[in-house]
Amino acid sequence: MLYQRSSALFKEAEQVIPGGVNSPVRAFKAVGGTPLFIKEAKGAYLFDEDDNKLIDYINSWGPMILGHAYEPVVEAVIERAKKGTSFGTPTALENKIAELAVSMVPNIDKIRFVNSGTEACMSAIRLARGYTKRDKIIKFAGCYHGHSDSFLIQAGSGAVTFGTPNSPGVTEGTAKDTLLATYNDLKSVEDLFAANPDGIAAIIIEPVAGNMGCIPPQEGFLEGLRKLCDVNNTLLIFDEVMTGFRLAKGGAQEVFGIKADIVTFGKVIGGGLPVGAFAGRSEIMDYLAPAGPVYQAGTLSGNPLAMAAGYEMLKALNADEEVYDRLEKKTAYLEKGLREVLEASGVNYTVNRKGSMISIHFSKTEVKDFSTAGEGDNDNFKKFFHGMLAEGVYIAPSAYETWFITDALTYEDLDFTIKAAEKTLQQLK
Ligand code: PMP
Repeated sequence: MLYQRSSALFKEAEQVIPGGVNSPVRAFKAVGGTPLFIKEAKGAYLFDEDDNKLIDYINSWGPMILGHAYEPVVEAVIERAKKGTSFGTPTALENKIAELAVSMVPNIDKIRFVNSGTEACMSAIRLARGYTKRDKIIKFAGCYHGHSDSFLIQAGSGAVTFGTPNSPGVTEGTAKDTLLATYNDLKSVEDLFAANPDGIAAIIIEPVAGNMGCIPPQEGFLEGLRKLCDVNNTLLIFDEVMTGFRLAKGGAQEVFGIKADIVTFGKVIGGGLPVGAFAGRSEIMDYLAPAGPVYQAGTLSGNPLAMAAGYEMLKALNADEEVYDRLEKKTAYLEKGLREVLEASGVNYTVNRKGSMISIHFSKTEVKDFSTAGEGDNDNFKKFFHGMLAEGVYIAPSAYETWFITDALTYEDLDFTIKAAEKTLQQLK
């Protein structure tokens, strides 16, 4: 596979865009080489500037759950654009998507739309702090909730890929209000509550972690958090930016049967346009301006193009009774195939999966938190990444990311991927 045009474009980009990219993980820094510049995409495939065709397991980091250039979304955006792209006023479309989202997700009465997952999580903790009149939050090492200051403390995803978990520019004052716990370890959370009685506004968690590879919650973990929150009058925030509308219509709350107090969304909810949202019961959401005192706003929030895309996406997922079952079956098929070739290759590996989120760590130890996620053999990951790419399979360019399965994948694509993995694994230790 040749990447001449991508290479040339990357060199050009480095002159005018920091690091050549507008979001760090895209730069391939963790794996080396030149990032691919994508020209277009359809269904399960990407086409880069050198006309390589790739099976896509990133899917814009989650949103393209029904495949790229999904017709109803494309049509809706085109039709909407003809009528004006932004008004800075309420629109009827916002009511429609809000009503639909509220009907699909358990335990939420109201939803506020923003422009990214970062904004959603940043606003959610402000709301939690305003509502509880407390300052501190608990986050889990390795969980990523966007790049707002409070969350860049042992964050996953790009923040760990680049070895700058505590980013310069985050003040000590901010950092002291973010308490760190260990994923899947209730005791670590209990200790924080004991040390900060009546001080913790919220626990924020990825109910299935996806930013240190995929790490599902162990039995009882989310239930335990719910109980600790109840006892301590602390809000439980589920960051469902990845899991929302992906694991089920109602996301992780539905799958695990746990009620969160605030839920954040991104990715799927925007159908590939820049959308985030946060939602909860009326008593909490009505704390937001202009109904309540907690300020939060956005010039382009509820943007008609973004809402049109999101609405079509949610409508399609809501109407299709089998979509989540198909996603589960396809991902389970991929998991089985990958496990077989990994086992036969003799490399150390762990495969974690929940629904249509799956990842491989190149280590034998059970991967259940940030530290065990870090035990993977990074050289093997790099070789695996580049080997798969050479075969025409595009996975995330970092061991700390999850693969997002799209319903556009066929079983032939999955077989092709498993074969590609079998071939690639021969080059690993
Ligand atoms: N929360 C989670 C769980 C995420 O995975 C991400 C992005 N990968 C975010 C928040 C931030 O979303 P965005 O990149 O849209 O700001």
